[in-house]
Amino acid sequence: MDFAFDARTEELRAKLLAFMDEYVYPAEAVAEEQRAALASPWDTPAVVEELKAEARGQGLWNLFLPDAEYGAGLTNLQYAPLAEITGRSPQLAPTVTNCAAPDTGNMEVLTQFGDEQQKKQWLEPLLAGEIRSAFAMTEPEVASSDATNITTRIERSTNGTDGTDDYVITGRKWYISGAMNPDCKIFIVMGKTDPDGEDIRRQQSMVLVPRDTPGVTVKRAMKVFGYEDHYHGGHAEVIFDHARVPVTNLIGEEGGGFAIAQARLGPGRIHHCMRLIGMAERAIELMCRRAVSRDAFGKALAQQGVVHNWIADARVTVEQLRLLVLKTAWLMDTVGNRGAHAEIQAIKIATPRAVVDIIDRAIQLHGAGGVSQDFPLAELYAGARTLMIADGPDEVHQRSLARRELKKYL
Ligand SMILES: Cc1cc2nc3c(=O)[nH]c(=O)nc-3n(C[C@H](O)[C@H](O)[C@H](O)COP(=O)(O)OP(=O)(O)OC[C@H]3O[C@@H](n4cnc5c(N)ncnc54)[C@H](O)[C@@H]3O)c2cc1C
Repeated sequence: MDFAFDARTEELRAKLLAFMDEYVYPAEAVAEEQRAALASPWDTPAVVEELKAEARGQGLWNLFLPDAEYGAGLTNLQYAPLAEITGRSPQLAPTVTNCAAPDTGNMEVLTQFGDEQQKKQWLEPLLAGEIRSAFAMTEPEVASSDATNITTRIERSTNGTDGTDDYVITGRKWYISGAMNPDCKIFIVMGKTDPDGEDIRRQQSMVLVPRDTPGVTVKRAMKVFGYEDHYHGGHAEVIFDHARVPVTNLIGEEGGGFAIAQARLGPGRIHHCMRLIGMAERAIELMCRRAVSRDAFGKALAQQGVVHNWIADARVTVEQLRLLVLKTAWLMDTVGNRGAHAEIQAIKIATPRAVVDIIDRAIQLHGAGGVSQDFPLAELYAGARTLMIADGPDEVHQRSLARRELKKYL
């Protein structure tokens, strides 16, 4: 077994690490200052656009997309260590390299399932970083961790103007990431075209709904532990009130929505885990720097035994998580997302909770500073904690993983 990265990965790692040091970390404070001066906090600070141009110029662009025709053409195993590096600055680095969720998942869906017209109209500007997008599945009224519960209606109806068919969409969604950003021009909406269909996994379809469609209202920004997540374009409540789009906006086939959602989530989940490891590395670095630079009761915090335990445990955990994530990436590359299903679930269960724990210790070591806005730890904590819920709550993955395990004995 060879644990070394290949030459292309090493080259991109070196470039990305230099880009982070030279551009991304220094821009974190600049972006905050610029945002405070913007007319709306949802607008994009100028420094983000400057960094996007720089990243694109350096070839640090669309690294997530394995399809070489549209993206960098990297395998999951090649992308994993790069996503980890961007996770060290989760507010800026994924966005400026055009590798941020939910755009990444949406670009994957359009690459795999979009027709030529949909690719031209929406995939191309997304790949160029000219627009942003959102994925609208979750609904406040139903337990959306079970996607068969969603109630949004997508009804086919003849258009009174020219007699062609449209889809009319009616429903209420929330926690729709990215939708508060005015650059978010397109929603991929999951709803039911056949609510009474016998097969509960064939009732759903996905349609492209442009933001400016009459009947679409981005109502309010939902908060995450009080944070508005401006860099991710927030998490919006969105109302679709008889929003009408042409039938050509259907992605794939009618009844194919559930399967597309499943296909979208596999890579999305591993990307989150890769970035979480980067977040844990940043927390460990902050913890160590603080521990050696602050004294209490006559000695540096770094000399306290309990601090040694925290640091050592964090290092052991990160090394374990990274190996499991890399193994999962390798499996996805070699046997496909379906073949790597159990491992994808395992990392999605293991990584957020372990990283939450590491960041929690780093917060503790920083005292009041840990929960303040002067260090990134509180925001990192909030981001990591939500990943025990988003993209499938832990318990749903545990249920499925345990069933798979039990099956061997039945
Ligand atoms: C920050 C953030 C960003 C998000 N972004 C998006 C987005 O862009 N687009 C989108 O569509 N959605 C998004 N979501 C929504 C997210 O995907 C859902 O919250 C998630 O799927 C859970 O659905 P729910 O909130 O309806 O919880 P429910 O389905 O109501 O579940 C509540 C809880 O019940 C428990 N539970 C559920 N099933 C089981 C089970 N089988 N066994 C045991 N316990 C169980 C779990 O503890 C679970 O957390 C986001 C959420 C957050 C927090």
